[in-house]
Formats: sequence, structure tokens, C-alpha cells
Amino acid sequence: MTLGNKVRAVRALYRQLDRDLARFQAQTGLSCLPACGQCCTHPQVEASVLEFLPLAYELMRQGEAGRQLQLLESEDNPLCFLFRPLRPEGEAGFCGDYPHRGLICRLFGFSVMRDKHGQRQLYTCRRIKGETPETYAQAVAFLKAGRPVPGVSAYYRRLTNIDPELAGRFLPIRQAIREALRFVLHYYSYRRPPRRRAA
Ligand code: SF4
Repeated sequence: MTLGNKVRAVRALYRQLDRDLARFQAQTGLSCLPACGQCCTHPQVEASVLEFLPLAYELMRQGEAGRQLQLLESEDNPLCFLFRPLRPEGEAGFCGDYPHRGLICRLFGFSVMRDKHGQRQLYTCRRIKGETPETYAQAVAFLKAGRPVPGVSAYYRRLTNIDPELAGRFLPIRQAIREALRFVLHYYSYRRPPRRRAA
């Protein structure tokens, strides 16, 4: 599969997931807290290189991949490269390129995982649980009733089917973005780069 085809396959997976997430959120009312961004401030959260391939490809298409890689490598910052804090000292902030966020960023908060006892549990954050307890309880009841909730394992399996090697390379998010940029730059070092979008 060419790199362009892999990117299209990951994008298609994201479109499907975004539809599933929107349905689940509409049915339960579960949502992120306004201007939170706390889940983006944990440098140890890992993602696979493949989930950031659409981001790297898009930057390549804009002629920005090399410059962004240099910038990423020059910064002494363990946080996600896309995170934009609202205040220098605060944890609140937002994603600087939400449409190109990773699979883990999409799933966290609104999906289901099995715990060590094999029970299905909501994969969500402490703030959502603590600050919107009624909505959280409603989402748990929805899950317990056997209604459809996007599954973390199922989506990662589908990602693996696109490219087992890149989907299997798990790194802290910042490094996953760096590796995706390096991969795309290397791929196009001896091929014609993707065309820029018309303005
Ligand atoms: S890609 Fe965006 S949503 Fe994901 S951790 Fe980084 S800033 Fe947060």
C-alpha cells in the first residue's frame, strides 16, 4: 500500500470513529469539559506512529513537514507538539490541529475497554466522572444495557490492519508525531511530494 493509500485508510477509520463517537455522545450527553485539555498534558501517554500519519502527510502537502520537524526537535518540551496551553502555567488548553489528532485522542473519554477481569469499562477521565456525575452514570447505564460504544481494542485492531508495523510502534505522543514526520519526509525524499491543496 502506498503512503497516500495508508493515509486515506486512516482518515476513513477516523471518519467512521467520529460518527460512532458523535452518536454515543448524543445518546448519553457525555462530553469534554469546556477549555479543559488536561488529557493532553500527560507526556507519558503513548500513541502509535500510524495514527499521526495523516497529520504528517498534511504538513508534507503544505510544504511544512521539514520545518515542523525542526521546530519539534528544537523545543525542550515533553508535552504533545500540538498542545496549545491557554496560560503558560496552567493545564488548560486545546489541540492545535484537532482534525489531525491521533486515534488515542479521539477514543479517550468516550470509548470502552475491558478491565483485568474482562469487564467492559468506560475509558474516560476523572474530571468527566467527578464534575458531571449524572451524565457519567447515564453513560455507564448505556454501556451496561449493551448499547454500542466505540471499543478501543476494535479500533486499534482496525488501525493495525492498515500497517501492522507503524501501528505497532507505540511511543509517547510527542515522539510518535516526530516519527510520523520523519517517516513521511524519508518516504518523499526520493518521490514526488503530494500536491498542495488549492487555496
Ligand atoms: S494531538 Fe491534540 S488532542 Fe492529541 S494529545 Fe496532542 S494536543 Fe491533545
